[in-house]
Amino acid sequence: MSVYLYFATVIAALGLGAESISATPDAARENPAAPEESSITFNSVHVDGPYIAMTFDDGPSAMLTPKLLDLLAAHHIKATFFVIGENVAEHPEIVARAAKEGHEIGNHSWSHPNFGKMSDQGVRSQLQRTDDAIKNATSQRPTLMRPPYGSITAREKRWIYEEFGYRIILWDVDPYDWKRPGPAVVRSRILKETQPGSIVLSHDIHPGTIEAMPSTFEALEAKGFKFVTVSELIRMATPRPSHASPQPGESALASATPSLSPVPPRETPGG
Ligand SMILES: [Zn+2]
Repeated sequence: MSVYLYFATVIAALGLGAESISATPDAARENPAAPEESSITFNSVHVDGPYIAMTFDDGPSAMLTPKLLDLLAAHHIKATFFVIGENVAEHPEIVARAAKEGHEIGNHSWSHPNFGKMSDQGVRSQLQRTDDAIKNATSQRPTLMRPPYGSITAREKRWIYEEFGYRIILWDVDPYDWKRPGPAVVRSRILKETQPGSIVLSHDIHPGTIEAMPSTFEALEAKGFKFVTVSELIRMATPRPSHASPQPGESALASATPSLSPVPPRETPGG
């Protein structure tokens, strides 16, 4: 499998490199105050090793998140939760537990609106209220943000990074668990798509997703994957092959995902 993945990655990288050949790979180094988009936005991370990040959105759920935390603890897995501010305000103790047990907490807005269609002031308020709620619950401010539905403009990414310091975290593996296809389908989709450096999207508000996790974790472990938080995964990032340097602009979003069949996060109800 690893040889296959290697060639798939190289082929994908070559293709993307050719598409964006006129861009300047050294833009970030020349102007460190304005990092290129590829260092702000991540669909996946290029790593040397079998590391992946499981992410769970839209909670906390009073019913399901504690169950998931028990499962994660039993498997010694660290995950990342992209929480809704409203839910944090309702159940700060669950978020506090997640943080205490080593999981990462990211900002997923206050009430799950579509950032791509909102005013800056509206987005700012959604993020600030949630940032405050997470700080109140965990004594720490988040450093990651995932826009609801993966919907965000390039301009919003830049000012949100500048104002809040947030990295914008999308995903490369989407089991469409929000459609509640049943635990077996959620598991098989995750197993099929996950590769080293993957960021796996799921939601800890659907019973079938939680039901799918024990066997999903076991199968991923059996394949040799190691689970880390999103920030840990980003810290492990290694350069992509030189001919495939991430490029500024919208092409960076695509080049961040060397998948054979990247799932575009936009226009999907995921996230
Ligand atoms: Zn969401």
